[in-house]
Amino acid sequence: METANAYTIHIKGLVQGVGFRPFIFRLATEERLNGWVENRNDGVMIKVQAEYEEVERFISLLRDRAPLAASIRSIQLMKSEGEDLDGFYIHKSNDHSEQITQISPDIAVCSDCLKDMKFQPHRIHYPFVNCTNCGPRFTIIRDLPYDRPNTTMDRFKMCGRCREEYTDVNNRRFHAQPVACNYCGPEYEYYQQGRVIREMEKILSELKKLLYKGGIIAVKGVGGFHLMCDAGNDQSVRRLRSIKNRDQKPFACMFPDIKTLKEYAHVNEVEEESLNSWRRPIVLLKEETPLSQSLNNGLGTLGAMLPYMPLHYMLFDEVDLPAIVLTSGNISDEPLIVDNKTAYSRLNGLVDAFLFYNREIYNRVDDSVVRIIDGKERMIRRARGYVPEPLQLDLDVEGIFSTGAELKNCFCTGKGHEAMMSQHIGDLKNYETYNFYTEAAEHFMHLFRIEPAYVVSDMHPDYLSTKFARNFVARNSAYTQGQRNGKIKWIQVQHHHAHIASCMAEHQLDGKVFGVALDGTGYGDDGKIWGGEFLVCDLAEYTRYAHFDYVPMPGGDKAVESPWRMALSFLYHTFGDDLQQYGFEFLKNKKPEDIKLILSMIKKNINSPLTSSAGRLFDAVSALLNLCTENRFDAEAPMRLEAFVDPQTESHYDFEMRENRIGFFSTFKQIVDDLKQNTSLPVIAARFHNTVVCVITSLARQVREEQGINQVVLSGGTFQNKYLSETTARWLKDLNFEVYQNKLVPANDGGIALGQMAIAAKKRR
Ligand SMILES: [Zn+2]
Ligand SMILES: [Zn+2]
Ligand SMILES: [Zn+2]
Repeated sequence: METANAYTIHIKGLVQGVGFRPFIFRLATEERLNGWVENRNDGVMIKVQAEYEEVERFISLLRDRAPLAASIRSIQLMKSEGEDLDGFYIHKSNDHSEQITQISPDIAVCSDCLKDMKFQPHRIHYPFVNCTNCGPRFTIIRDLPYDRPNTTMDRFKMCGRCREEYTDVNNRRFHAQPVACNYCGPEYEYYQQGRVIREMEKILSELKKLLYKGGIIAVKGVGGFHLMCDAGNDQSVRRLRSIKNRDQKPFACMFPDIKTLKEYAHVNEVEEESLNSWRRPIVLLKEETPLSQSLNNGLGTLGAMLPYMPLHYMLFDEVDLPAIVLTSGNISDEPLIVDNKTAYSRLNGLVDAFLFYNREIYNRVDDSVVRIIDGKERMIRRARGYVPEPLQLDLDVEGIFSTGAELKNCFCTGKGHEAMMSQHIGDLKNYETYNFYTEAAEHFMHLFRIEPAYVVSDMHPDYLSTKFARNFVARNSAYTQGQRNGKIKWIQVQHHHAHIASCMAEHQLDGKVFGVALDGTGYGDDGKIWGGEFLVCDLAEYTRYAHFDYVPMPGGDKAVESPWRMALSFLYHTFGDDLQQYGFEFLKNKKPEDIKLILSMIKKNINSPLTSSAGRLFDAVSALLNLCTENRFDAEAPMRLEAFVDPQTESHYDFEMRENRIGFFSTFKQIVDDLKQNTSLPVIAARFHNTVVCVITSLARQVREEQGINQVVLSGGTFQNKYLSETTARWLKDLNFEVYQNKLVPANDGGIALGQMAIAAKKRR
């Protein structure tokens, strides 16, 4: 008997938990191919019995029609033994399944499911509709393999109809773990001053009434609670601020559709693509028509997103508002509230109503935030829709756990050549946030079956992430003694080297680069506060090639909150005691005794640590222009300065370079001259930004001349500044440099853990 030709197809990437096997089954059946498909620990293996042309066609269809959330990294085709197969089968997960550690991020509800909500009898108005192409994933998973009993759906018993769909391989809901309907799934419960409503249509009409009246509602979302109100109602927005503890940060808004959004903000093609992607992040846009004054207090940018839960769509069908505020349900710096009880106990009396549901959120995730810079989506906050999708590295990072920074913390776990970044955790100094950190670390290590052999932390002795590393090493070394034949090793990494390495890891760079790390604060080798750093480095080592000149920070952390102190520091440095005669506008509302005090702190070197921080430099200029003298939220002053830039201005100020220390003496002198001559603020803001770009390009040229390095890596929170980022990249590219910037992880401290991991991978040998 003659056996037919056969081929195996090995697909790697995110192909598990996204309905990939049933998709292959349906496609193969449609194409009348015999064979099988199975999950392997390193992807999906398919065997088909067919001629080469048929297999080629199969693969191209497979690429075209793959489930939305699947991401195919590689397809390997091999000739194989024929088996005389009859029909097409999905092999049951075998012993490999214990090693399968792919978990899909949560996926926005798909259009087919939205249709089902209108026409499918058992899902009419069912707000937890989902299928293999959409719905919650990471937020509901407790353990692997990704099967219903390992999710928080376990308490809901599938009804007969859902079970039929779940077991029918030709159905869109085949093995969709959270499958549910009106008869068997989770339900919403609206709670308002003792009144409880469970009927969806009534809930929606109550929500509408309350929103129109300016009410504020705590709504349980995918990864935690949101606080919701009418974005156009200034009074409600102000009240929302006071509930969140006078948080001055801009609030993110949800718009019903892109058309409405375009009436309020400028949206380019790439931005629209991000807004519409299944990940549905908040996208930072240029505001055109303000919705309400208190939303962003004149910042000029708008954080916008589109509906992603069925409830959001139902709400906008009912409510005729251009946008709603949908901000994280937390108080000041605490983590997002995830459970009904806590929401009630923390928010009762503050909000007007609650919208609960009865499924548990196991992994807490905020909305993700991105900004389009230089035509590409850049992460600002990496969470829902992105986590825990692994990042593919060129490095073997097996067994490395990196603890991240302190602010905007994310940690990172390594497995093989993949880095699993945690969701955005936040500021570890907050007690609840630190608890969230330890809990999330446990979840990750358990889910991804990771037993770290190396723990990496920042060099800062007082970071809580450093303390976590120290304790972890102490605790686990004692515990695993004998079993693992050795201790867990602890590696410490300099903050700005980690920033640069995060970007190098993303772009798979491994040689010597010129690294420009501009940010707020990082612990330096000399114990000073670094932040305007120019490194010549590879992944293992770095030298500090140049840096912004040190200036005193009068009051230490107080100077971070009060940019006007930094302005005084730079001005004193420039003019000495003469500075008083200029009658600066920004000092007019400050008390003379306060000014005197700050000046004497600077002069006498009292509680004035030295810093080379780029953040403090931007703070100082923002204060000097009287745009922002007090930072009411992280990086407010630099953001206000950026918002003022006139992009047509190409001139810049002078600066000094002495022994590779960059001084801004001339810069401040010329800014003051410009102020005296009433030069417009947008022009001054642009000239200042261009000055920093000039510093970068001149140093890059110098390094290239001296050492032949042509690759420039830009990282650090300051590069979230769109104007600075784009202008730097453009000027460098004009000089034929290769320029690299963070894309997949934040350029801010949220990306540090990836850099720590890459450095440790190199250093551990
Ligand atoms: Zn769906
Ligand atoms: Zn059902
Ligand atoms: Zn940093």
